[in-house]
Amino acid sequence: MTDKINLRTAEYNIFRVIAKNPERKMPYRALVSASGYAPKSFSNHLHYLVTSGVVTKSGPLQKQTIHAVLFMTDVQVGPVTRRPSVAHNNSKPKAAPIKKKRNCLKCREKFWIEHKNNWICKGCKSSVAWTECAGAA
Ligand SMILES: [Zn+2]
Repeated sequence: MTDKINLRTAEYNIFRVIAKNPERKMPYRALVSASGYAPKSFSNHLHYLVTSGVVTKSGPLQKQTIHAVLFMTDVQVGPVTRRPSVAHNNSKPKAAPIKKKRNCLKCREKFWIEHKNNWICKGCKSSVAWTECAGAA
């Protein structure tokens, strides 16, 4: 098994409380006190466990129950490189660069196109003839 989910120590400790429970679930509030973490940092840790698919929440907001989805053998304490950032990620995905070759309409040489309407190679574009005729095209 190489695809264990890396957790921070705090998240691992919280998950262990749930996973070691005979029913593999814990009422939210009981879990907070069992974990020993402050409610605010606890909710951050729990959020990560939920978004990673390690645990799920069920029930009404005030009386939630936390269920273990994975097992202790599925997780490990390790470096967490990529944390899900649902609220803070506003950046749009960049368009993938075109990686395609095409024959230049002018010199017939193969060249890497820069965009889909790129029909003339760089060499021809920078030539005087192209620069002069471009406006008329
Ligand atoms: Zn060309």
